[in-house]
Amino acid sequence: MTAERSFRKEVEQLRLGAGEEFWGEGILAVTKALLQSGVAYVGGYQGAPVSHLIDVLVDAEPLMDELGVHVETCSNEASAAAMLGASINYPLRGAVTWKSIVGTNVAADGLSNLASPGVMGGALIIVGTDYGEGASVIQERAMAMAMKSTIWLLDPRPELQKVVDITEQAFALSEATSAPVMMELRVRACHLQGSFTARDNVAPTVSTRAPLAEAAPFDYSHLAHPPVTFVQEKLKVSERLPAARRFIVEKGMNEVFEGEGGEIGIILQGGLYNGLLRRLQALDLGDAFGESRIPLLVLNVTHPLVPEQITDFCKDKDAVLVLEEGNPEFIELQVNTFARQAGLKTRILGKDVMPPAGEYIAEVLEEGLQAFLRETGVQGGGGRKGPSMADIRAEGGESLGQALPPRPPQFCTGCPERPVFSAIKILERDIGKVHIAADIGCHAFATFEPFSMGNSILGYGMSLASAAAVSPFQQRRSISIMGDGGFWHNGLATGVISALLNRGDAVLIIMQNGFTSATGQQAIPSSTLGRDGKPLAVDIEKTLVALGVPWVRTVRSYSVSVMVAALRAALTTPEKGLKVIIADGECQLVRQRRVRRETAANLKDGRRVAVERYGVDEDVCTGDHSCIRLSGCPSLTVKPNPDPLRNDPVATVVESCVGCGLCGEVAHAATLCPSFYRAERVRNAGAAERWLHRLRRRVIGWLQGGAAA
Ligand code: SF4
Ligand code: SF4
Repeated sequence: MTAERSFRKEVEQLRLGAGEEFWGEGILAVTKALLQSGVAYVGGYQGAPVSHLIDVLVDAEPLMDELGVHVETCSNEASAAAMLGASINYPLRGAVTWKSIVGTNVAADGLSNLASPGVMGGALIIVGTDYGEGASVIQERAMAMAMKSTIWLLDPRPELQKVVDITEQAFALSEATSAPVMMELRVRACHLQGSFTARDNVAPTVSTRAPLAEAAPFDYSHLAHPPVTFVQEKLKVSERLPAARRFIVEKGMNEVFEGEGGEIGIILQGGLYNGLLRRLQALDLGDAFGESRIPLLVLNVTHPLVPEQITDFCKDKDAVLVLEEGNPEFIELQVNTFARQAGLKTRILGKDVMPPAGEYIAEVLEEGLQAFLRETGVQGGGGRKGPSMADIRAEGGESLGQALPPRPPQFCTGCPERPVFSAIKILERDIGKVHIAADIGCHAFATFEPFSMGNSILGYGMSLASAAAVSPFQQRRSISIMGDGGFWHNGLATGVISALLNRGDAVLIIMQNGFTSATGQQAIPSSTLGRDGKPLAVDIEKTLVALGVPWVRTVRSYSVSVMVAALRAALTTPEKGLKVIIADGECQLVRQRRVRRETAANLKDGRRVAVERYGVDEDVCTGDHSCIRLSGCPSLTVKPNPDPLRNDPVATVVESCVGCGLCGEVAHAATLCPSFYRAERVRNAGAAERWLHRLRRRVIGWLQGGAAA
């Protein structure tokens, strides 16, 4: 599934037996916990921060085969959610994974239809909740989905043994209550390093090695279809909810840390535990070993809450702070309700001292804690022991001497998607601005300087669909941009088929780089090779032609002049209907990994290796930097002008250049100055080549000497 990347070490960890120590990342610990739980099938769609789970299982194919576990790399999250249907009729434990919120939204239909009949075998959904600073997730949605669909929601305290135990308990909880269980794994929990004591892997009783002899008998009560859904809706509340609350208490899934007791306490989502402890320590309210002086109720299960557990914790306290990320404050509202219904006088604080939305990073937690202590008049504690986050930031700034400049993310050097935006920029100089519907994927980097392109981003693979209501109101055709990953995920059905159905007259550019690159180069249906290393037969151009798309062109993405011509034709042709340009160019990150390996092998065997590099002739460069503004390549920068009579810095190509040729192509397509040159650095050159090189140097030396004379 993955391109050129090996998870050999991780796969070895999956084989650990009882009593051995596992050491590694949180997401890998979850992967091992699945195997220890006797999971029979695993599926998912890639996305940060959970891609690793499926990547590793795919690489662990021999182990999966030994255990009889089926692994499916799904075409999107809806197909992953639908897989869990296997647990409705059969005693099979299954797990699927994706990135929330996009994944949970895409899977929503399947999830609610799974939750309705409920499950027989444990069904676990692992969602990567990459919410907050540096994440692409707009909002926290798992809680709302879980509450409205009667899916239990786990948010384990980020400590590897706890994460593993909760994962294993999740299957038992699902089976004891006939309900699917969702486990949120925050980005910090996924990448947390730590250890736990492994248990033996458990081969599922029903598996690919021990298949069922008979299909399940017809049972109408297991269908998510009216009228039986009316009964199921009642069962969710009358049977499954009380059963879940009993299980949570009996198995001790939530944790109380008594601290030093006292009149205040904190109820928190499990995932916030580590951040909170660190700030408590800084305020002299906790220590480095994870002991809090303030009593804590850690909710490793955030839905359902257990009313008695909440009121037991609150009953002796004057005030309790609820730490809950996201908005609205579902947990805080319930805690308030439980406390009032039990007749408690305990004051419940939450969003009144914490920000209404956004990630609870260190500064936010620290300020919120201090506000809580002030509000409640508690003066004990707060004798600060560690530096405040403000101090840490100030010290960092001082040691650097100055503030760091902002570094927005951008395309990799030599990315095949960058030239397409250069081509659009060049064309727009002739025909004017067009509406651009952008999409999720690496190509979204074009929304930053120097391209600043994209009027909307409305979902993964949804650019063409989003342009449907825009195009009819534009004099110029709109351009929708989509990656090949987005095309297969959603764009084919929501965009292309819909455009054919409605005789849409838009232009679609599909970036065909061969993988879902932004998530780690996982294979897609049109990848050259599948996860088994064998060629895949699905071709985007053939698919479009077969569907009846009237105008399809495949253009090498680095050929800027050809791309400009194709775009011009697509935007101006009198021919009506959908026009698709497939911008073809292998993901440069994948290419570089491959080339580095091939180069190393060739050098080792003494074979000739030639590496292309581009450069700028500083005597010719006019210093207007159009090339930089049009290509945006980070390897193309400026340096002082060597000519003492000229002030403008000249363009220059730095060592990180991968020789993609875009700068030269742009200079040609936009008819800029002829300052770019291409050179080859040859290693292990042959005798004839060396002789020619010596001759050239002599002639050049002679010419230079002659010129000097
Ligand atoms: S990962 Fe590949 S497609 Fe994405 S920016 Fe880098 S080179 Fe481009
Ligand atoms: S400097 Fe030019 S050739 Fe080198 S990576 Fe950048 S665009 Fe490509």
